[in-house]
Parts: sequence; C-alpha cells; structure tokens
Amino acid sequence: MRCSTTSSTWSAARSAATPCPRANGPERVSERDFDAIVIGAGAAGLMCAIAAGQRGLRVLVLDHANKVGKKILMSGGGRCNFTNTGTTPANYLSANPHFCKSALARYTPWHFIELVERHGIKYHEKELGQLFCDESSKLIVKLLLDECAAAGVDVRTHCSIEQVMHGDSGEFRLRTSQGSFSALALVVASGGLSIPSMGASGFGYQLAKQFGHEVLPTRAGLVPLTLTGKHAERLQELAGVSLPVEARCNGTSFRNFMLVTHRGISGPSILQISSYWQPGDDLRLDLLPGIDIEAQLQEWQASRRDAELKTLLGEVLPKRFAQRLCEHWIASKPLRQYNAPELRGIAELLSSWPLVASGTEGYRTAEVTLGGVDTDGLSSSTMMSRHVPGLYFIGEVVDVTGWLGGYNFQWAWASGHAAGTAIAG
Ligand SMILES: Cc1cc2nc3c(=O)[nH]c(=O)nc-3n(C[C@H](O)[C@H](O)[C@H](O)COP(=O)(O)OP(=O)(O)OC[C@H]3O[C@@H](n4cnc5c(N)ncnc54)[C@H](O)[C@@H]3O)c2cc1C
Repeated sequence: MRCSTTSSTWSAARSAATPCPRANGPERVSERDFDAIVIGAGAAGLMCAIAAGQRGLRVLVLDHANKVGKKILMSGGGRCNFTNTGTTPANYLSANPHFCKSALARYTPWHFIELVERHGIKYHEKELGQLFCDESSKLIVKLLLDECAAAGVDVRTHCSIEQVMHGDSGEFRLRTSQGSFSALALVVASGGLSIPSMGASGFGYQLAKQFGHEVLPTRAGLVPLTLTGKHAERLQELAGVSLPVEARCNGTSFRNFMLVTHRGISGPSILQISSYWQPGDDLRLDLLPGIDIEAQLQEWQASRRDAELKTLLGEVLPKRFAQRLCEHWIASKPLRQYNAPELRGIAELLSSWPLVASGTEGYRTAEVTLGGVDTDGLSSSTMMSRHVPGLYFIGEVVDVTGWLGGYNFQWAWASGHAAGTAIAG
C-alpha cells in the first residue's frame, strides 16, 4: 500500500486516526487523515473509492450535493444505461484518442455487468449494445453505496470544499464545511458542467489549473440543437414529429431518430452529432437513410405518374414533414412533370438536407461536457497527474467524452477503477 512507503509523521498520524462515522449531514470534525480522498460521489468517484477501499485503503468521498449519484439517478430516463457491450475507444472524443484505451481495456463492460448481476439487478439491452436496468437507476446507486459500505468507504454529502492545499511531505490537506481532512492521494471526480441544477460545477477544472494542469476548452455535448430564421419558422409547427435520419457533420455520421422540438431538433441522432458540431459547421441530414431515393423517384415516375410528389413522400416520411418539405423546399407536382435533372436534385436534397443550426441548448440540458482536463498531463494507465504525484483526475472532468448509449458511464467506471487500483499500488 502506498502509505507504507510514506514518512513516519504520516504513518503515525494514520495509525492514531479513528474511523470516521458514515454521515450524511454537516458535521465539523478535527483533521483526520485517509489514504485517499475522492472529490465527487458520482459514477467515477464511487467506483474509484470502491476499488481503493477493497484493497484495504482508508477512503473518504466528499460531495457538496445533498445526495450521491444524482446523474446516475436521472440517467437513461430513470433506468440508467449503465454500459454498452460494444464499447471501444472509437466511441470517445478526446484531443488524444489513444488516452482512454488502457483504462477501457482493463475494466470492460463485462466487469460492470458481473457486478450488476452479483447484486441481482435485472437488466435488458435496448438497442446497439445499450444495457438498461429493468426497474430503476436507484438500484445502481444502491449497488455502489453497498460496495462502498462493504469496502469501509466513508461517503459524505453536503460537504463544501473550501480549500485544497498540498503539504511539503506530499499530503493533500482539504478544508471543508465538515472540517479538515488529509490524504496522500487526492482524486478529482467532480464531473463536468452539464446540468448545474444537479450539482455540476467547474470545481475540477479550477483545481486542475491550481496544480498546473492545462484545461482544454469545454462545451456542451449530447445536446439538442437550436434553430433560428427560416428553418425555425418552417419546422416549429412540426414539434413532436420524429423520423429516422442519418445526421452527418465533420466526417462523422449517426443513423437514428431525430425529433423536432419547439426550439430546434433533438433525438438520438442529433444528440450524437451535436458532440461533433460547432457553430458554422456544415450539418447535413439524410432524411431517407438506407433508401436509394433517386431510384425510388424514378420507379414512382414509371409506376405512379399522376401522383403528386408530396403524396408519395408522405408514404416514406411522416406526412406532415413531407408536406412541409414540399411547401418550402421542394416544388410538388405530379411525378410525370419532372425531368431527370430535377429528380436528381430532389434526391440530392432529401439525402443531404442542409440544416443551419444556430447553437445548442447548452449545459442546462446537455448530457455531457466536451473538453476538460488535458490528458497530456495525466498517465493513461493510472489517471495520475504527471506534475503532482498523488493527484488523480477521473470521469467526465477529463477530456474524454463518450457517445450516447452507456459509453460515458463505462468511462466513469473504467477511469475510476484505474485510479482506485493504482492508488492501492
Ligand atoms: C440527463 C442525463 C442523462 C444521462 N444518461 C446517461 C446514460 O444513460 N448513460 C451514460 O453512460 N451516461 C449518461 N449520462 C452521462 C453521465 O451521467 C456522466 O458522464 C457521468 O455521470 C460522469 O460521471 P462522473 O462521476 O465523472 O461525474 P458526475 O456523475 O457528474 O459526478 C460528479 C459529482 O461531483 C460532485 N461535485 C461537483 N462539484 C463539486 C464540488 N465543488 N465539491 C464537491 N462535489 C462536487 C457532484 O455533485 C457529483 O455528485 C447522462 C447525463 C445526464 C445529464
């Protein structure tokens, strides 16, 4: 264990310490030391604490929110999409796409599935390898808290961190609303900026900067896009209409449903592509993915010559959507009246419809935060800082962001596990 190699002062203080009671309310105590302090009782922080606690370390988890794992509770529509069986490094965005490889390879979806099964939690695959609880996200939070309890981890909520200092002998000293604590390892698992009402804060980024780390620009990801101008006016009345599309931007594409909202567009394909989109980028939608629309138009021209285009499009698209397209973007007439170049133009528009998004709905509704603590300053196998021994960054605060579909929790589990086992040495 790490503490066996530390100074005598630390070892003496450690052996004199009494175990902290598990507490959920504010409680001021005098300084007590731990082997590791984890800031943030979310997915990554709790997994890290479990891994370190199971290996015999004395671990303290501090969270300023009134309960742990709030994002887990609200995730997956209350059923927590806790992993994805198809997870690969290609499902993540990062300035360094190789960084996530080591942790993901060492803690796979099957490790978490084994844990879920051991706790008797029933689950199902929704689509594309996405695993959801049959009953409730609450069961995943219970699993994590039960594992923490079994590993002797002290989890405290309602705890504001007022100051973090790094002592001469390498220890981290934290002044908090519940007293002062110290440890030789400090793990920052405070998440990103999305959903501030759930306790999200920029705390982890500030702390990273305090310790000399680069923080890459952050922005909202997995977020609905907003429309203004003619697209907004023309689509607004279709709010609630959903259709399968292939959304394409910057060389990446996602095929899934799009939902028209009152302020723009959402749905899985749009949330996915939003992580690859920035204002000004060219965003295209294939409105009939998987259909050779030029061949279909030619076939209609041969077999249904007198039918109007809007009627025929209404057979392959939601009727109201087809009607609106033909009111504003495509002149509808009987099929026999189109010449070949016109049909080609219509096919091109339907398979590569340009949509000018004005922005995103922002952190208020975003599922994740892109960017964050630069991975250049971290070890990919342990998540430890290259500048400050004993300091770790895990989960969403790091510049690793997953696609929609359970990938973000898998990164939280994997990076948390990597740090927890590394701290235990
Ligand atoms: C609505 C929604 C649904 C989602 N659904 C899914 C899903 O189904 N599947 C999936 O894979 N991902 C999902 N995600 C993404 C996923 O929730 C996150 O990627 C994941 O929770 C990140 O884990 P984390 O532990 O790094 O951070 P978080 O879970 O955000 O935990 C950070 C913790 O740190 C605490 N904290 C923050 N600042 C401080 C501070 N200053 N002092 C003390 N504590 C602090 C917070 O209170 C919080 O408890 C969803 C996200 C949202 C918003």
